Amino acid sequence: MQNIPQISLKAGREKSIRRRHPWVFSGAIARVNGNPEAGSTVRVVSDSGEFLAYAAWSPRSQIRARAWSFDAASTINAAFIRQRIARAIELRRQLHLMDDAGACRLVFSEADGLPGLIVDRYRDYLVCQLLSVGAEFWREAIVAALEELLVPRAIYERSDASVRHKEGLELRSGLLRGELPGEPVEYTLHGVRQLVSIEQGQKTGSYLDQSVNRLRVAAYAKGASVLDAYSYSGGFALAALHHGAADASLIDSSAEALQLAAHQATLNGVAARCQFTNANVPQELRRLRDSGQRYDLVVLDPPKFVSSAQQLQSGCRGYKDINMLGLQLLKPGGVLATFSCSGHVSADLFQKIVAGAAADVRCDAQIIERLSQAPDHPVALQFPEADYLCGLLVRMLP
Ligand code: SAH
Repeated sequence: MQNIPQISLKAGREKSIRRRHPWVFSGAIARVNGNPEAGSTVRVVSDSGEFLAYAAWSPRSQIRARAWSFDAASTINAAFIRQRIARAIELRRQLHLMDDAGACRLVFSEADGLPGLIVDRYRDYLVCQLLSVGAEFWREAIVAALEELLVPRAIYERSDASVRHKEGLELRSGLLRGELPGEPVEYTLHGVRQLVSIEQGQKTGSYLDQSVNRLRVAAYAKGASVLDAYSYSGGFALAALHHGAADASLIDSSAEALQLAAHQATLNGVAARCQFTNANVPQELRRLRDSGQRYDLVVLDPPKFVSSAQQLQSGCRGYKDINMLGLQLLKPGGVLATFSCSGHVSADLFQKIVAGAAADVRCDAQIIERLSQAPDHPVALQFPEADYLCGLLVRMLP
């Protein structure tokens, strides 16, 4: 234990880590004893030398250390990483998400005690993102543990997210184990056949965080004419059609996403009831509104509009604009399913934005459900930053 480098925090700066928040910011550090290698384990101690945590050292990031464990008796090694991964998989088993044909997020970073590691499972194919230098340091242990615990057909890396730059890491993607099929992988979620392009898709290929919300939204879909804006590969539209929607219009700016959506629609026998539009959503919504189109169910699932505190104002305006349009496109009595995946936008703030949009377009509406990320994207109680997805099901009063 003696040879583990030690970082001492400034007096008074130990409060958050004592409360088990896993991040140590550079400004909180008073001294570094030893010469820790990037990603290696350091002991975090208070000003008075009291043990606080073992953490991964990240010399290039403002988040200078990320805690692995708050227990002085822990040893951070390959067995520790394996145990954490096994614990994360066990949660997904409890959630009944480990069926052979399905998909789920297996590891969700801080919430699973593995800061910087994301692992998604699509049937027996695993896709991982190593987004912190600590996760990068344990790369081999992570891959070996996944292989041993799950015996996947392939493990593919999609660490091509720009957050790696903040850690001083290059973007990386490629095959780590096994082989991928030369075509999209098919899996089934809530009875809908889905396709994921592991190598080319956005993020790890699919937006699994919306899996439960698609079902919630589909509950209002019977007989409905549906508009799925920011559709990606059509998760919401397909769930709605599976639950009896009359037709669905999908809009996305990515031609590849719409192509995948079209394949999925064919696979599920609903292609004849789908329409695909490759366009910029705000523009297209305006056009549809002006041409008098109206829908029973409108889904707005935009990309992150707010990535930093500086973008909060412009992002909120963006959310308000599309929500005004979404509401104007509803038939009386129709339902708007509206989402934000910006962690900087709290559920409270999002509700205010949508309320502002409704006031501006002079419509009376009621919240019928509040939505958040699926349970395979848990939120550690001490790390509310991971609570990024919020949604509202809003019914326009006839
Ligand atoms: N609803 C999807 C996930 C949407 S992710 C699902 O359930 O799987 C956000 C999508 O918005 C991406 O597919 C992205 O290509 C698309 N997008 C981003 N900016 C856009 C814009 N201005 N107009 C249209 N689509 C956009």
